[in-house]
Amino acid sequence: MTVNELTLVPQDVLNLDGLLSPEELLLRGTVRDFVNERIRPNIATWYEDAHFPLELVPELGKLGVLGMHLKGYGCPGRSAVEYGLAAMELEAGDSGLRTFISVQGSLAMSAIHKWGSEEQKNEHLPAMARGEKIGCFGLTEPTAGSDPSSMATFAEPDGDGGWVINGAKRWIGLASVAQIAIIWANTQEGVRGFIVPTDTPGFVATPIGSKLSMRASIQCDIRLDTVRLPATALLPGARGLSGPFACLNEARYGIIWGAMGAARDSYETALEYSKERLQFGKPLAGYQLTQEKLVNMLLEIQKGTLLALHTGRLKDAGALEPVHVSVGKLNNVREAIDICREARTILGGNGITLDYSPLRHANNLESVRTYEGTDEVHTLILGQHITGISAFRQG
Ligand SMILES: Cc1cc2nc3c(=O)[nH]c(=O)nc-3n(C[C@H](O)[C@H](O)[C@H](O)COP(=O)(O)OP(=O)(O)OC[C@H]3O[C@@H](n4cnc5c(N)ncnc54)[C@H](O)[C@@H]3O)c2cc1C
Repeated sequence: MTVNELTLVPQDVLNLDGLLSPEELLLRGTVRDFVNERIRPNIATWYEDAHFPLELVPELGKLGVLGMHLKGYGCPGRSAVEYGLAAMELEAGDSGLRTFISVQGSLAMSAIHKWGSEEQKNEHLPAMARGEKIGCFGLTEPTAGSDPSSMATFAEPDGDGGWVINGAKRWIGLASVAQIAIIWANTQEGVRGFIVPTDTPGFVATPIGSKLSMRASIQCDIRLDTVRLPATALLPGARGLSGPFACLNEARYGIIWGAMGAARDSYETALEYSKERLQFGKPLAGYQLTQEKLVNMLLEIQKGTLLALHTGRLKDAGALEPVHVSVGKLNNVREAIDICREARTILGGNGITLDYSPLRHANNLESVRTYEGTDEVHTLILGQHITGISAFRQG
């Protein structure tokens, strides 16, 4: 495939590709090829079997998408736009695979990169960038989701300079296959972050079963029963909830792009199908009702992709604010779910099978709209920004 054949959006009527540099186009093409070769042929089976392809992790390291926009310590050091383009291509394959690079790169690695000591960075980041070590990020708890300030997990000094952690985490991506967990816990001086080797006695991660979404990916319950850690486990730079929130912002940024990848793949699938499927004597694509659906999808994909690119350019210029990320995450995930569902209708009955991607993408996006700040949380962030009044708590 040549660079010229690759477009951000099929029938890129706005010529958004004209806004990308040759290097950005090349990177996108490389990740797209990887998705076509390594993910697309297998994803339906992985999804049906609820299987996360662990064997792809070192390959993703070689591809250069783990900790992709982090600099130094063996990380690829690519731009925010390049990271976004990679997220978009991976999520066109499956949200579960994009989620993996988000958890590894934007959450676990970025926590160490932002808040870790030199020793911690040198010990973990190069191996994580190569995909030889997997990290997870434990913030959410069984009783603390949208409101992480209510977290109950507690870390106490052990009297010898070390720490003892007790508590529970829920929905933690990759925890059962990770070698290290970034665990956020309350202490007497507020929330702190810890690098916990997952083979530490008292740390138990159990995959959550029976999921209807993100089936080609792993999320776990974690129990922390008297987990003893040395002083060197503490992330020295993170104090308070701004520590985990800074990492969440990185992952939320990737989602702005990724969601449009899932939407694009659904649109392309529906477009192709509608041109081949004959009903009432002609292709579905020849009916005005179908064309209206396709046009509406294309408009939202182009707008959402433009929004993603705008936030990426802002990020590369050092001007991206959390409120920009809320605009992008809320809008693009919401629109992407609608696009995937509309695409499914064009596929008729065949659309409810795993032979076609739109319903799989739509189901995955139910998770994406829930994690990294729900629709409601981002609406409240933007509502506060507009009015100056916080509506997070009543009274
Ligand atoms: C697939 C998946 C992967 C995940 N991966 C991770 C991970 O790796 N690490 C991690 O720490 N967490 C992870 N999470 C957890 C995720 O961040 C939480 O699910 C999310 O923050 C929402 O929390 P909750 O599920 O407890 O829902 P709740 O907070 O209980 O919310 C339930 C509903 O109430 C709404 N609500 C809450 N507060 C308000 C309010 N003030 N006003 C109006 N409505 C409100 C919410 O928007 C939502 O619709 C993951 C979740 C999923 C599903």
